[in-house]
Amino acid sequence: MSVNTHPKTRRSFSENVNVMYDRAAVILKLDPGLAEMIRQCNAVYQVRFSVKLKGELRAFIGWRALHSEHRLPAKGGIRYSEIANLDEVEALAALMSFKCAVVDVPFGGSKGALCINPHEYDEDELEKITRRFSRELIKKGFISPSVNVPGPDLGTSAREMEWMCDMYRTLCPDDINAVGCVTGKPESQGGIRGRVEATGRGVQYGIREYFRNPKDVKKAGLSGGLEGKRIIVQGLGNVGYHASKFLSEEDGAIITGIVERDGALLDENGLDVEKVHQWRLERGTIKDYPDARFIEDGTSFLENECDILIPAAIEGQIHERNAARIQAKIVAEAANGPVTSNGDDILRERGIIVIPDFYLNAGGVTVSYFEWIKNITHIRFGRLERRLDEIRGHHLVDVLEQMTGQKVPGELSAKLVQGADELDLVRSGLEDTMHLAYQAIRDVWLENEQVEDLRTAAYVVATRKIACSYNRAGL
Ligand code: NAD
Repeated sequence: MSVNTHPKTRRSFSENVNVMYDRAAVILKLDPGLAEMIRQCNAVYQVRFSVKLKGELRAFIGWRALHSEHRLPAKGGIRYSEIANLDEVEALAALMSFKCAVVDVPFGGSKGALCINPHEYDEDELEKITRRFSRELIKKGFISPSVNVPGPDLGTSAREMEWMCDMYRTLCPDDINAVGCVTGKPESQGGIRGRVEATGRGVQYGIREYFRNPKDVKKAGLSGGLEGKRIIVQGLGNVGYHASKFLSEEDGAIITGIVERDGALLDENGLDVEKVHQWRLERGTIKDYPDARFIEDGTSFLENECDILIPAAIEGQIHERNAARIQAKIVAEAANGPVTSNGDDILRERGIIVIPDFYLNAGGVTVSYFEWIKNITHIRFGRLERRLDEIRGHHLVDVLEQMTGQKVPGELSAKLVQGADELDLVRSGLEDTMHLAYQAIRDVWLENEQVEDLRTAAYVVATRKIACSYNRAGL
């Protein structure tokens, strides 16, 4: 195995992940047997089942791949997509292992998919299909709070997670931790505040981390902070919507372009993300949005000039055929695998910085980890200490006022006496996680001559941890 032995052919998604991982395995001088063990998925379950819909039996195919079990449970979303396939599921499961390791979430990696276009079915039909799919996965141990915990992904949401959780509770009524069998549930069903926005929030925190380091910003040929930076985002779904909303509303970035399936919107002065989102929710399209220019060819819009390009839709969007034309200074991978390994080589050669997917979109799994902890401890975060924090805050205000003889201003006093609630704790835990992980990646990037980019650095950080777990376990 050497760094650049792979020919420049078009690769499958899992081959792309392997090429990127191999680079780290070489740098770490991993024993070939161990390197191979980490590379491969440990188990894959393919399931075919039929569901009676409108009086007719309809057949479905789905998968759950288990990439690594060095930590349990294994974690990873389930996507509903008509282009889902086994190779994609295996690649995504591998990315989950690296993702959990890089942000220190003590889970193995897994992923699932059902080959379906969810828009072709009504809610009752989707519930029937989801319940049947979950039953098949539960029967084989591919959904369980202690072994394998799915979450939402492309085409699924809290609604599907609630159905899966209910199915598990029905089939395993004596499991006291049953509610922890999936994450991303509605708050009323054992979910956690801040999970819906978590991946987009993590993308915001990850990009902020990059901009906190002037040396890194300079490497991208930029200067200053996020304020005024021009961003194009592809995909206004859960991740793309939240990331672009927070970056524009809270960090002063300007969203100059939004690319969706049906075209792109352009406004050099900045799009109002919330308004575009509402328009799309009501009409199902971004077409005819009044306050921007509409461009039919969304795909080539990715090549427009901007500071940061955020692909937040699907994999394989930047590749050997368009990477040479990308004009962004930074590609911030909010989606999983949006840049192929060939595309990645071209971007690197051109000095374009890529903030890698399995770090940048790890906010979802990080908050899922918090949700799982809440579920298995059976207590809401902040429940024990919130009141005590508030009492301490009141004491502090009293002491300050007594010592200075002055009243603490209302706004400051309110901040001092406010105890942290679940959302505050989730957000601060996520921010800290993204901060620490970025620092670890950055240290490897800047200190190791063989490490040319952030992606390789992130693979080195994650692979080292996984290898260490396997070695300790004597595997
Ligand atoms: P989503 O289904 O909510 O949104 C995806 C959006 O992308 C949709 O608006 C869709 O119309 C758009 N889209 C699809 N194909 C497109 C194309 N070719 N061009 C432009 N737009 C296109 O999904 P999501 O949950 O936001 O996930 C997006 C990506 O982020 C996926 O790669 C997913 O694996 C990854 N991800 C999601 C989470 C999560 O918590 N949801 C966590 C980690 C990673």
